[in-house]
Amino acid sequence: MRQPFVAGNWKMNGSRETATELLEDVVQGLVSSHCEAAVCPPYVYLADGLRIAKGSELVLGAQNVSEEESGAFTGEVSASMLQDFDCRYVIVGHSERRGLFGESDETVARKFMAAARQGLRPILCVGETLEEREQDVTEQVIRRQLDAVLNAAGVHAFVEAVVAYEPVWAIGTGQTASPEQAQAVHAMIRARVAEADDTIADRLRIIYGGSVKAGNAAELFARPDIDGGLIGGASLDADSFLSICESAN
Ligand code: 13P
Repeated sequence: MRQPFVAGNWKMNGSRETATELLEDVVQGLVSSHCEAAVCPPYVYLADGLRIAKGSELVLGAQNVSEEESGAFTGEVSASMLQDFDCRYVIVGHSERRGLFGESDETVARKFMAAARQGLRPILCVGETLEEREQDVTEQVIRRQLDAVLNAAGVHAFVEAVVAYEPVWAIGTGQTASPEQAQAVHAMIRARVAEADDTIADRLRIIYGGSVKAGNAAELFARPDIDGGLIGGASLDADSFLSICESAN
């Protein structure tokens, strides 16, 4: 049985004041539950996250990580630094990193491995653009993104990892993938991992991201291969985020 997982990706939003308030509200509102809940604030608010989430059900994640361990890499943050702040998770390969910051499949694989080496659990994001869906190459795109990491890191690295299916056309657009569309891709991802290892595939949590809200979370999470969500906009509101976590129970 896979434990449901809901993670909030705050992206580059808020101030220290609003981040603190949001963290406090989420910690207070999280009832002891079956679902694992995480938030990924901007790096600079991780220290506040560590302080506020201590002893609570809420776990912390980061939005990015360097592929390098240390050294002259101005502006970068390493996996071991994230561990200093009790981050359990780190998002790698988000479509905004791929699209806006030019991260290739190979870079994403190296980041995945840098996180895993430090015992952080990578949340590997994959997903097709609208153009790719219209050209009917969704499966090839997801397979390419997944294979780059599977081949570099090996299937055993997926024991601790989470895969997030985030169709680019659904991110921040209000246009959620239908439960059927999402389920089809999730099943395909699980089948691909199962080609390498059945047991690992069966235990792998595959979460959906892209315009998940309190109102549509339950029907998505009800599908057999959708194990939770990666939430952008709706994670910036404590009540919405908590309600989405409830839907995953
Ligand atoms: P939205 O929930 O705002 O569509 O963002 C999804 C996302 O990119 C989470 O990583």
